[in-house]
This record gives sequence, structure tokens and C-alpha cells, in this order.
Amino acid sequence: MNVEKRRRNTPQRKIIHEELCALKTHPTAGELFEIVRRRLPRISLGTVYRNLEVLHEDGHILKLETAGTEARFDGETHEHYHIRCTSCGMIRDLEMDLPINPVDHVTDPGGFQVEACDIRFLGTCPACQEITPGDEPGNQPIH
Ligand SMILES: [Zn+2]
Ligand SMILES: [Zn+2]
Repeated sequence: MNVEKRRRNTPQRKIIHEELCALKTHPTAGELFEIVRRRLPRISLGTVYRNLEVLHEDGHILKLETAGTEARFDGETHEHYHIRCTSCGMIRDLEMDLPINPVDHVTDPGGFQVEACDIRFLGTCPACQEITPGDEPGNQPIH
């Protein structure tokens, strides 16, 4: 009866969206669940996941998927770039101005009508840089 209406905009979904937008860390569903449950102690991981899927389908959030890793979510939907840590998988926004539009520089589109490109950057995040493999264990300064 009221099910359709409730599915459209539930208070839970609003809170999940709010919490995601407040974060800059591009959390996984599990990470966001840990944060959302402070406000909604009875929510389940499955509910968080389903709501993220609905928000993504409706274009309110981005879903960042890389083969072999868990999907991460982003409340920032304007076009921007990401850098992913190759050690821990953490994703950050990357501020940059692209001097050219790569789409305009395709020399052999192979019959495609090229519409967009998806540029991702890879690197090592500050936390992972501190655990360089060459460092002597036990020799690390304690912060
Ligand atoms: Zn890292
Ligand atoms: Zn982002």
C-alpha cells in the first residue's frame, strides 16, 4: 500500500546519504555502516547496502568499482578525479585541471563514437608510505 512511497525516500536513506556526503574517504558499504549505525543503531549492513544501490541508481551518489576490490561510494557527483592507494585500496579526490580533453585526442576510435573517458590515478597513500618494506621493524619512530 504505502510501500512504494516509503521506498522512495526513507529517513534511513536520507541519513545514509547525508553521512556519505560528509565523508571524503569514499567508504565501502561496511565502513559507512559503522558510521551510520551511530545514528541508526538498529540498521543492518544489508539495509545500508541496498540504500546505497538505490542512491546510485537514482544518480545521487557515485559507485567506484575496481576489479577485485570492494565497491566504494562517493557523495560527490560532479566530475572529478580519483587516486587509489595500491597498498590499502583507499580512494581520495584528486584536484587537477586537465590541460586537454583526451576524448578530442583519440586518433583511432575503432568505429566507436567516443563520448567520455575515465581517468584514474594510482599511488601510495600517506599512511602506507610510513610502512615502507625496507624499513627495519622496531626501528620506526613512534608518533
Ligand atoms: Zn594506503
Ligand atoms: Zn570522489
